[in-house]
Amino acid sequence: MKVVIVGAGPAGLAAALAARAHGASVTLLDAADEPGGQYWRHLPPERPSANERILHHGWQRFTAMRRALEADAGCEIVMGAQVWAIERSDAPAQARTEAPMPAAPVVVHVLVGPPDGTGRAGRTFRPDALVLATGAHDRTLPFPGWDLPGVFTAGAAQAFAKGERVAVGQRVVIAGAGPFLLPVAASLVATGARVLGVFEASRIAGLVRGWLPKPWQLIGAAKKGGELAGYVGTHLRHRIPYATGRAVIAAHGTDRVEAVTVARVDANWRPVPGTEQRIAADAVCVSHGFTPRLELPIAAGCAISSSRFVEVDEAQQSSVAGVYAAGEITGIGGVDAALVEGELAGHCAAGGSPGDPEVRRAAKARTTFTGFAARIEAAHGIRRGWTAWLDDDTLVCRCEEVPYGRFRETAAQTCGSGLRSMKLTTRAGLGICQGRVCGGTVEELIGGGPETAAGGLLDQRGVAATTDRRPIASPVRLGELAGGIGPTEPTEPHLSKPTVQKGHQ
Ligand SMILES: Cc1cc2nc3c(=O)[nH]c(=O)nc-3n(C[C@H](O)[C@H](O)[C@H](O)COP(=O)(O)OP(=O)(O)OC[C@H]3O[C@@H](n4cnc5c(N)ncnc54)[C@H](O)[C@@H]3O)c2cc1C
Repeated sequence: MKVVIVGAGPAGLAAALAARAHGASVTLLDAADEPGGQYWRHLPPERPSANERILHHGWQRFTAMRRALEADAGCEIVMGAQVWAIERSDAPAQARTEAPMPAAPVVVHVLVGPPDGTGRAGRTFRPDALVLATGAHDRTLPFPGWDLPGVFTAGAAQAFAKGERVAVGQRVVIAGAGPFLLPVAASLVATGARVLGVFEASRIAGLVRGWLPKPWQLIGAAKKGGELAGYVGTHLRHRIPYATGRAVIAAHGTDRVEAVTVARVDANWRPVPGTEQRIAADAVCVSHGFTPRLELPIAAGCAISSSRFVEVDEAQQSSVAGVYAAGEITGIGGVDAALVEGELAGHCAAGGSPGDPEVRRAAKARTTFTGFAARIEAAHGIRRGWTAWLDDDTLVCRCEEVPYGRFRETAAQTCGSGLRSMKLTTRAGLGICQGRVCGGTVEELIGGGPETAAGGLLDQRGVAATTDRRPIASPVRLGELAGGIGPTEPTEPHLSKPTVQKGHQ
């Protein structure tokens, strides 16, 4: 039984351990240099720290998982492995008749090596089961001035702080929505920045409505309470102001950010006139939640829910038999949700069942953490009134420099606002990021409905529009394609070392 896992973050690592424990041969692929995903980032090898563990929650757990997998001859870890495409192959795989379970109807195409080099080697897999654990990236709503140098996504600021120990500025404003703002503030002060304020767009009433119902259900997530207490302590020690119902609605500066305007917003995130406050700052970090990385599940044919997550059953199996999903691509529930989902996905992908005693604890914990994800969405989910802080010059798509005004004009002139026609006419979402940054915004502006403050651009065709459909999941050189995409890997277990392949060395 051969299980291929894409993503070596918390979900993928847990899946690999569970699949091995159930006897499958595992190949764990990740495009990054080191395993650990977004949560367990590494300091650069040239600047190591003996204290790396104190920079991260759960570092010991991570190192234990990593060591166990690296020492296991039945697990091949391939870093620098970019899965650039998944093909549907509903024809049976060659070795399928020998396999104890039907093979997943997918072919996984991988390029291994430095993405900026020319020597990447192609590999192709036809696994018996595929686990997708590709995580999420953070979502940022546009506002006037958000394209100035000095405006960062909170995730990028966190990556610099945790992965490089570099602060993105000296006087930093943090804004957006969600619990993620708190660890970002903590990491920034730990790297020497002064955090001038954390501004959460949701108002107290919304937070209470999202977090407080059925509080006993939160008991299973008590560890999160401990983390929260730690962040509150940091805020108090460093006197970081924290305000709810406030948003950064503009950034100002000539060559880079010099100040931001923060305003009170109503329950729908519409700015309240007369409440604007200007704050001098040299950096602003913004996050309005996370966007799951869905290109591979979509390519594999997995059903995606209306809230844009991969739909899974109790076994973490998607709508495609043999294709499993775990972690942030099934819902934004944080590291603990990713770990338990990964464990279940790996166990079931290897032929186990969610009712088996060895995963009973994980199955129970999943209920708690799934509820956690629902609370985050209810309390901090994006509200439609945000479009009121856009002006006609605000760039909606930064890659193709498409301002909001052109977007609106095009919709008015063409009387059509379908996603495809708006993309082709304005070029929004067609640039280098392929809509990863602006996709959600473009979709919301098109399908926001007439009640949207700025006169939302209704998708009159009622077509389920998505910018996540990217058959080529990452940039590939034509030369790499021309050179062939690599032989198909054998499906039988490999049991020889070396198990860790570093594509970036
Ligand atoms: C930028 C950022 C910073 C965060 N910081 C914190 C924090 O400080 N504290 C906190 O509590 N939570 C943080 N989170 C949330 C936390 O990281 C997640 O809850 C957790 O990591 C989810 O685990 P995962 O395994 O689902 O995904 P990830 O940890 O995101 O792992 C996904 C892995 O898949 C790999 N991958 C994706 N696509 C491909 C592909 N096509 N080919 C090969 N590999 C691929 C990625 O390289 C990555 O290693 C952060 C999230 C982000 C996006």
